[in-house]
Amino acid sequence: MATAAKIEPKPGKLFIGGKWLDAASGKTYPTVNPATGETLTQIADADANDADAAVGAARRAFESGPWAEMSASDRGRILWKIGDLVDKYNEELGTLETLDNGKPIFESCQVDIPMVAEVFRYYAGWATKIHGETVPVRGPFLHYTLREPIGVVAAIVPWNFPLLLASWKVAPALAAGNTVVLKPAPWTSLTALRLGEICQEAGLPDGALNIVTGASDELGRALVRHPGVSKIAFTGSTMTGQEIARVSADSLKHVTLELGGKSPNIVLADADLDGAARGATIGIFYGKGEVCAAGSRLFVERKIHDDFMQKLVDRTKKVQPGDPLDPKTKFGALVSEAQMNKVLGYIEKGKAEGAKLVAGGARAQFGNGKGYFVQPTVFDDVKNDMTIAREEIFGPVLATIAFDDVEEAIREANKNPYGLAAAVWTRDIAKAHRVAHRLQAGTVWINTYNNYDPAAAFGGYKMSGYGRELSMHALESYTQVKSVWVNLKD
Ligand code: NAD
Repeated sequence: MATAAKIEPKPGKLFIGGKWLDAASGKTYPTVNPATGETLTQIADADANDADAAVGAARRAFESGPWAEMSASDRGRILWKIGDLVDKYNEELGTLETLDNGKPIFESCQVDIPMVAEVFRYYAGWATKIHGETVPVRGPFLHYTLREPIGVVAAIVPWNFPLLLASWKVAPALAAGNTVVLKPAPWTSLTALRLGEICQEAGLPDGALNIVTGASDELGRALVRHPGVSKIAFTGSTMTGQEIARVSADSLKHVTLELGGKSPNIVLADADLDGAARGATIGIFYGKGEVCAAGSRLFVERKIHDDFMQKLVDRTKKVQPGDPLDPKTKFGALVSEAQMNKVLGYIEKGKAEGAKLVAGGARAQFGNGKGYFVQPTVFDDVKNDMTIAREEIFGPVLATIAFDDVEEAIREANKNPYGLAAAVWTRDIAKAHRVAHRLQAGTVWINTYNNYDPAAAFGGYKMSGYGRELSMHALESYTQVKSVWVNLKD
């Protein structure tokens, strides 16, 4: 990664109808490196006028021109090429992601960006496999269905996996023939903008993908309200998801929501304790804990509690914050000062409510001292109704809760409004499946944590949202079914 530090982010413009534009207002805002607190570059600060221009360009591209007329196999070829170009620019994209988000470069270059490429190639393969069916209806009729794109998709994404979560929406939307207006999170727009250039290089027709950036949440609101948008594909907090569901009800837009989580990670007494301790640390500290599916509630069977906690704390102490651009670093900076302060606030709350702090618990000093680093933090003796066990912290803070039997673990695990992910650790495979079936979560991992694949569906139960990302299931939400009747009578 010797050249990583040499990659200089350029000023961000809006990508509308194949052109790179300033915001109509001329305004820009700074994007900051969370590891140093320093400004990286200026980004175009779009408002409702720019959103309107982007939706207009997307609508024109959807209704006429090369994208609207393109065969499925040509769409697939372009998507495949985007995937290959993402691989080609891995180091540049990974470095931009790390500079903008604070995540370690090993995560960006070895996990996020390779999966972005895989997601584009996965959906490239699907482009030619989206089709309707003939249906045996009563009477002298031929009945068939067409599976058609919906129209303009507003893809609104958060800051924790900026390019990865954008790819989860852009790739299936384009594979199905939609056009897209992508809105990255205010703090992390750089890789989305680079994706725009990559799409141009791959030959994606103008207007098929448009990208608008802005400092204010009003930009997302403008897209949600816009009559030219047919579908909103949103990933972010549950509160924003609820607002989107309410506002979009007026125009009955299609909506899929990938929201927050407070995922339980259950360690039974018969588990491989070293493996489970490793899984628990990866579950909460990967991505600095700024992961929707983070295993932030750790349920440990009381019989093995003391042994297990020793292993966990030993491992946690080895997870040290470091320079995110150093390939050896496994733990980076939180995304912003506001996020750091929110996480530190939860740590104080945990202490005040009587949880026992056994690792971390403070801001970590590193580098120039201005970065937003927080120590990997573990609380023990947590009660499931304490604030740190109920609310999504979205940071490196683990709440450990002891339990006496598996029924209690399942009951307490499910006693939370979220239902994004869960895990269970045991050597008893029948018990593992029984627990998995009863956990109210869109993803359950058995003896592992944080696995993702373009072919594996991902999404929430309960307040973690609706709709699925990835896999063939995501495609369903980017298409609509048309029923066609043909009279066969003479
Ligand atoms: P957020 O809801 O504040 O913002 C997400 C995106 O929505 C941003 O682009 C933001 O600008 C935009 N936005 C904000 N208010 C809006 C509004 N009223 N209308 C339209 N758009 C609006 O969330 P965040 O803080 O960026 O991200 C963290 C949250 O995302 C966490 O709750 C996390 O669990 C969730 N998340 C979920 C998943 C998942 O797949 N389920 C994945 C990653 C993150």
